[in-house]
Amino acid sequence: MEIDGGRSRITCTIDFDKDGRQAGYCRAPLSRNTAGWGTVEIPIIVVKNGKGPTLLLTGGVHGDEYEGPIAISRLARTLDPAKVQGRVIMLPAVNIPAIMADTRLSPIDGWDINRTFPGNPKGSFTQMLAHFLDSVILPMADLSLDMHTAGHSADSALSTNMHYLPDPAMREKTMAAASAFGAPFNAVFGGVDEGSTFTSCVERRGKISLGTELGGWGRVNIEGVRIARRGVDNIMKHMGIVEGVPDTTQRDGSPKTRHMMVRDPKAYVFAPRGGLFEPTHNVGDTVRVGEVAGWIHFIEDVDNPPIELTYGMSGVLWMGAGPGRCTRGDAVGVIMQDYQDNWS
Ligand code: CA
Repeated sequence: MEIDGGRSRITCTIDFDKDGRQAGYCRAPLSRNTAGWGTVEIPIIVVKNGKGPTLLLTGGVHGDEYEGPIAISRLARTLDPAKVQGRVIMLPAVNIPAIMADTRLSPIDGWDINRTFPGNPKGSFTQMLAHFLDSVILPMADLSLDMHTAGHSADSALSTNMHYLPDPAMREKTMAAASAFGAPFNAVFGGVDEGSTFTSCVERRGKISLGTELGGWGRVNIEGVRIARRGVDNIMKHMGIVEGVPDTTQRDGSPKTRHMMVRDPKAYVFAPRGGLFEPTHNVGDTVRVGEVAGWIHFIEDVDNPPIELTYGMSGVLWMGAGPGRCTRGDAVGVIMQDYQDNWS
């Protein structure tokens, strides 16, 4: 555990080398007014049988994103070790303080954990948690599936996502994993790697990193849960951890995931003013350049007409605006285009 500036202060009751099913907690120290030696318990379930690859499933990195935690905790209760070849490490509620508070940011220190990687064992609670994930949990994994939605801040077309990896072999492996997961869309994006996300840690460690966006708006997306549950089963089949062939049939009859890319700055529709945003499309809709993306209304001001926003390019709406009021500078729409493997 001696990596990147020190040993983790988080302990774990699991023996990761033991066959069978284990359920327990990672215990993170948190000094409180009422408990100087208090801890925060993070649920962990490991199912292992013999030799084979390790799949890491994480949910609840942001506390207001529900489809992943639901799918992972269902799997954690039902996965039979006798049907497993390899290991599945399940953390359905990574950021448990944020989950219990129903917030994106940690209620303990205000950090977004997905902007603090690789963390710091001696830092704030969130930095300590990020460091534990990167330095203790990640080295055991071959493939990391980190399950997100757009939270309260937006809605998302049901999709997996990945960086455009410079290494063609890793890019191909990651796209194959995305194809196996079987969401309606897979968004490949580039130019946004700020290095502080979990995805960046996974890539730095040479592992396969797949994310998801399976809903948002602070609600549980029913189809998002269905795709999440099928996706974790599909990934286990893809890795040979359980037997079977991934089912990637889409609701529209298409046999597979549609690979998309988000690479052009024109993909983003930004709000030039704060106001009440009226969108014109749902996520997953096809949109055209110049078409109206929505209006920002100033309902508090009788003399101020709404501002009309338009799309800067054609494609499919990946991310839609959050509920109601937007702030100047918010991305109220993000467009993805069909994937082309010609970035370098
Ligand atoms: Ca998220």
